[in-house]
Amino acid sequence: MIDPFGRSISYLRVSVTDRCDLRCVYCMAEDMTFLPKSEVLTLEELDRLCGTFIGLGVRKLRLTGGEPLVRRNVMSLVRSLGARIGAGGLEELTLTTNGTQLTKHAEGLAAAGVRRINVSLDTLDAAAFKAATRWGELDKVLDGIFAAKAAGLHVKINAVALRGVNEDEFDRMLAWCGEHGFDLCLIETMPLGEINEDRTDQFLPLSLIRARLRQRWTLNETDYSTGGPARYFDVAETGTRLGFITPMTHNFCESCNRVRLTCTGTLYMCLGQEDAADLRAPLRDPGLGEEGLRQAIRDAIARKPKGHDFVIDRRRRAPAVARHMSVTGG
Ligand code: SAM
Ligand code: SF4
Repeated sequence: MIDPFGRSISYLRVSVTDRCDLRCVYCMAEDMTFLPKSEVLTLEELDRLCGTFIGLGVRKLRLTGGEPLVRRNVMSLVRSLGARIGAGGLEELTLTTNGTQLTKHAEGLAAAGVRRINVSLDTLDAAAFKAATRWGELDKVLDGIFAAKAAGLHVKINAVALRGVNEDEFDRMLAWCGEHGFDLCLIETMPLGEINEDRTDQFLPLSLIRARLRQRWTLNETDYSTGGPARYFDVAETGTRLGFITPMTHNFCESCNRVRLTCTGTLYMCLGQEDAADLRAPLRDPGLGEEGLRQAIRDAIARKPKGHDFVIDRRRRAPAVARHMSVTGG
């Protein structure tokens, strides 16, 4: 699938649920209302839709959420998607998780063909972790991360940079990641969804963090890329990678290779734009068949915008995009 700007769309991120067992302050309000089950695609429907995308050229799938591992029976979806790796046309199946359920699922993920996972962890301080997630237990997540490592999964830690929460911790986190062989990716907060907090207070530019880290670490620029917004450096002292995702200060859209599917079958062609295509109706329309569904996807890709409109509006203090990150999964 080639979009109007010549970009080849080979990466699909699938939010399998909008629900989560945590309430990270930059992601969700404490009293979130989640979707009624009737609106959510079944695991079989998600599997079929992913199969159609693979048939159209998607080579990499990432499951996300909400928290993907809290969806009941999600491992059956992981196994059936894993079976599409190789001859089935899929090259990679990955997952972004908060890690709370990994002790239970790490081995199952590895057995299904998952090789790499991203685990979101903003701090190594138990009290700060509890505050950032509103009630999360750090130890549970650390146990999950080490279960993933023991199962042979390559782990990348994703940390959102938050002013006053973890800004003094990146040095320690980089050392910890280096010690255990994990890559680390730092993310600037994005203005997505109402969260009952002030985003201008949370925002911490990564240019500042990078300059500070450079005083202690040798960061060698690499051209390693996942086609996304991250810029990666090799950390000479640890042999691991350090990435920076700076959607607010850096334009990365020229190389965008991805689209995002929500658990209701809505396809977002850009994380930072409202335009979306409903795939649930064509999926459930028996009259349309597989070719109708493929056409609906092709029509959506033809509307993929050139770039995003992120901006933290300091006067209105309103999010640039009304939906929460837990809808599209980041
Ligand atoms: N629950 C899983 C997790 O936390 O990894 C998957 C979904 S979560 C929405 C995906 C990623 O988005 C996480 O790394 C999270 O830190 C990040 N995220 C959530 N809200 C964000 C925001 N407003 N700005 C930047 N990143 C955000
Ligand atoms: Fe849940 Fe992930 Fe959002 Fe945190 S970032 S509230 S773990 S979906």
